[in-house]
Amino acid sequence: MLFWIILFIVIFLAINAVSKNKAKAELQRAKSAIQKCRVCPECAEDIKVEAKKCRYCGVSLMPVTEDEQAQIDKAYSLKISKLENMNTTQPLNKKYQNSDGWK
Ligand SMILES: [Zn+2]
Repeated sequence: MLFWIILFIVIFLAINAVSKNKAKAELQRAKSAIQKCRVCPECAEDIKVEAKKCRYCGVSLMPVTEDEQAQIDKAYSLKISKLENMNTTQPLNKKYQNSDGWK
């Protein structure tokens, strides 16, 4: 009888550990999906910070200024912290959708 109880506990712990790792990996994935973006001055689409040309309208872009960089970093860390906050209160799929809609 004791054997079964121990076995049950071991299985329970194993499942718990796996699902925790899964949630961690999901959060990591969601985080990496968030990119540092800036807005194209011509077409107002989100484009990568590193881009030299807008991928939507093809306009050549000026290098990011220090002010812009600061804004971009701020927006980025805000998105990340939002994602982490949601991790504690909501199921993962919902969280990801929310962070996507937040721009
Ligand atoms: Zn553009």
